[in-house]
Amino acid sequence: MKNPLQYVRPNILALSPYSTARDEFKGGDISIWLDANENPYENGVNRYPDPHQKELKACIASLKRISPEQIFIGGAGSDEAIDLAFRIFCEPGKDNAVAIAPSYGVYKVAAATNNISLREVQLDTDYALPAGRLLQAADERTKLMWICSPNNPTGNAFETSRLEALAEAFDGMLVVDEAYVDFSPKGSLLPVLDRHPNLIVLQTLSKAWGMAGLRLGMAFAAPAVAELYARIKYPYNVNGPTQAEVIRRIGNSDVKPQIKEIISQRDHLSRALASAACVQKVYPSDANFLLIRVSRPADIYEYLVHHGTIVRDRSNVCGCKGCLRLTVGTPEENSRLIGLLQDFR
Ligand SMILES: *Cc1c(COP(=O)(O)O)cnc(C)c1O
Repeated sequence: MKNPLQYVRPNILALSPYSTARDEFKGGDISIWLDANENPYENGVNRYPDPHQKELKACIASLKRISPEQIFIGGAGSDEAIDLAFRIFCEPGKDNAVAIAPSYGVYKVAAATNNISLREVQLDTDYALPAGRLLQAADERTKLMWICSPNNPTGNAFETSRLEALAEAFDGMLVVDEAYVDFSPKGSLLPVLDRHPNLIVLQTLSKAWGMAGLRLGMAFAAPAVAELYARIKYPYNVNGPTQAEVIRRIGNSDVKPQIKEIISQRDHLSRALASAACVQKVYPSDANFLLIRVSRPADIYEYLVHHGTIVRDRSNVCGCKGCLRLTVGTPEENSRLIGLLQDFR
């Protein structure tokens, strides 16, 4: 078993975290709170929230069947967990990271923000995982490897057994972004997290769970890694209303029927679009979006906008030439999109 601490920047290993007023409170029957310079008049948000998000973590731990010690929660979505991974493991100007391409654009921006060079490895034919070339691209200063599965924008998921093999072969931290995992038949790496101390799994409430507006992202990792996240995060990084609202919604809602409906709509959309004259190819998807290759991407994009419908133009992304990315909408929205694309001349 690899010790993940060997990949951590020395300054991060050495630092002691900021101690909040609420950290120093060791319990007791307190009714007068004069430790944090808050406004004393109760209005629902005048108190600082729990910096450790204990109740929220317990809720997510039981939902995901893992331990609260394996969880980091980001109050700015999983983008926060992406940035912090660079800050924990990569020495600016010295270390590097490897990522598949095309993939989610935030890895590149977060790498650049932290002055880390990101070595991009193009996916194989049919967007298959280029495991051998990813490992070849890594050297002794490669601390992170980024894999998005299901991948954005290609839509396909990779076999979890191949990702596990990659974690085993890679001498660094493998980060697997599972933002779309709820739509994928290939499943999550969470059940094998215990076996791979150099694995970080990212998930979010922004997609299947329907809470993009609340900005809640999660990183799951070995307790030692989750502790590093806790050490360097902003102390009160998940606001109080978000903590309460997420607990309430996870307790009250069952997203499974919506996920099922979105998957069935995706498959319907995929079949219907394959027969539209302007569509050259519909790529297989394990997510809630489709990548399609079309004859005239810019014209079709403008045409759709003209008809009040916006999609994502990915036609200039290397590996996605001529492609648009379409999110699966409601049945009515999807019918409208199908009609528009079938009518395009
Ligand atoms: C949407 C998305 C995210 C999620 O981001 P949040 O910041 O949690 O909303 C993460 N990774 C990928 C690949 C995504 O497409």
